[in-house]
Amino acid sequence: MSDIDVLIIGAGHNGLVCAAYLAMNGMRVKVVERRDVVGGAAVTQEFHPGFRNSVAAYTVSLLNPQIIADLKLHDHGLRIVERRAQNFLPAPDGSHLLTGEGRTRASVARLSQRDAGNIDAFTRELETIADVLRAFVLRAPPNLVEGFGANSIAEALNALGTANILRGLTLEQQRILLDLFTRSAGDMLDERFESDLVKALFGFDAIVGNYASPYAAGSAYVMLHHAFGEVNGKKGVWGHAIGGMGAISEAMASAARAHGATIETDRGVREVIVERDRAVGAILDNGETVRAKYVVSNVNPKLLYTRLVPPDALPTPFVERIGRWQNGSGTFRMNVALSALPSFTALPDDGDHLSAGIIIAPSLDYMDRAWLDARQHGWSRAPVVEVLIPSTLDDSLSPKGQHVASLFCQHVAPQLPHGRSWDDYREEVADLMIATVEAYAPGFAASVIGRQALSPLDLERDFGLLGGDIFHGALTLNQLFSARPMLGHADYRGPLKGLYHCGAGAHPGGGVTGAPGHNAARVILRDHRALFG
Ligand SMILES: Cc1cc2nc3c(=O)[nH]c(=O)nc-3n(C[C@H](O)[C@H](O)[C@H](O)COP(=O)(O)OP(=O)(O)OC[C@H]3O[C@@H](n4cnc5c(N)ncnc54)[C@H](O)[C@@H]3O)c2cc1C
Repeated sequence: MSDIDVLIIGAGHNGLVCAAYLAMNGMRVKVVERRDVVGGAAVTQEFHPGFRNSVAAYTVSLLNPQIIADLKLHDHGLRIVERRAQNFLPAPDGSHLLTGEGRTRASVARLSQRDAGNIDAFTRELETIADVLRAFVLRAPPNLVEGFGANSIAEALNALGTANILRGLTLEQQRILLDLFTRSAGDMLDERFESDLVKALFGFDAIVGNYASPYAAGSAYVMLHHAFGEVNGKKGVWGHAIGGMGAISEAMASAARAHGATIETDRGVREVIVERDRAVGAILDNGETVRAKYVVSNVNPKLLYTRLVPPDALPTPFVERIGRWQNGSGTFRMNVALSALPSFTALPDDGDHLSAGIIIAPSLDYMDRAWLDARQHGWSRAPVVEVLIPSTLDDSLSPKGQHVASLFCQHVAPQLPHGRSWDDYREEVADLMIATVEAYAPGFAASVIGRQALSPLDLERDFGLLGGDIFHGALTLNQLFSARPMLGHADYRGPLKGLYHCGAGAHPGGGVTGAPGHNAARVILRDHRALFG
């Protein structure tokens, strides 16, 4: 018999959270990670000599406060600070929008009195439905099961609990919920606002990691998905983890280890071992075999089932359906080392706006065109770029007087058309991204003294994110809640006994939340107690 209860494949932040909860509850846990560093997409690395940054995920809000408290992440070194301003949107005509506590309304009013009158009501609508999402984040969605038995009774109770949460909403709030789950962000924003920048502020959240037009049905949900977070108790706010996103993963790994979990890097899994319809361990890339009572996957579900689990171990309809799992968030990620802070034409001075998420996408039409262009050409020639300069809040990332910036660029094709490879176009597209910022902040290009560019292909190769999908699968209605990763498997249990999902491909989806890891651990503990008391 193995001396390991649980083998977790992947030390992404969700794998680490799952490990920590299981170890905390007395289980013997081993995590094996393919890369030489823990954290998956939530990682801090030196990308240019002397310059460190959160090289993939770059900003924090969705990380669940219950998980921070349960794992005592602050005791393990985690410190999160708020941005001094939330978002800064410069426009080509020299106007701008600057948001954040106490300043949003006045800034909106300078663009449109009408929008200033409407923004609080819309924010309240979003906040009310975001509260519903918050109530669902740390619980498994109702799972569809066939037949009648203990499991179907448990799921009926879960469905009742879900209905009860929804019953707390007024009828009008339920209508808004339906809108936000099904409609396009663009249509909803056009109905409420007239200023392009105000619409772009919300519309940007609808296309982050979502390779779609802001006018695509379902994009309003992605906007909502970016609104259910909080920083230090302030809802809807985004912040920075001192030391970068890797500091979050390091704190989680430290918590897991403190409870006895073992975490090994440079240990990729080549194959999940299946015996008599049960997952019983894995063969590593180095040929080593690790056996365990339970196997938990932190990797993208399509990667798990099309590359790691032998196909003949799975029901054919399952293999076919997971093969259709939609990946590809259409994002291009850059890290740049800067000799100086940028100066934006729309607000040239040094100020709080430089600690904000700086969104270069001045209208919904701009975002719509960006998507269309990327569909046809392979990338948008007028791309959407968010610039974040974490060194304005954290002096541990760059040499004194110099800075690091994340450029999160939307709307590049996950796979280039006409058989072209991202390896041949990465640098050209990276130049375009820098030129796009330069148009709003002259001198920016000259201040770049080092850069790292990650195409969708790089995100797949380096991080195991299939199609470069930052969420382990699109956040579309057919891949959410009870359908994530598939109807019948929303309870974190895979189609094989002993196999579980703890990554972003499970509810509630992508983002640095820790929630899938938490929820999977709960189910595994329940199953373990049912078997072993
Ligand atoms: C460019 C980018 C920007 C983002 N920005 C943000 C942001 O600012 N804020 C935010 O909240 N979210 C952001 N996200 C989304 C968020 O980072 C992810 O959804 C989340 O980190 C996923 O966590 P995870 O633990 O489920 O999976 P992952 O982080 O993907 O971890 C999975 C782990 O499994 C490992 N693995 C893969 N294959 C194997 C194998 N065969 N054997 C062993 N290990 C394996 C991987 O190396 C990885 O470490 C961003 C993501 C990306 C890529």
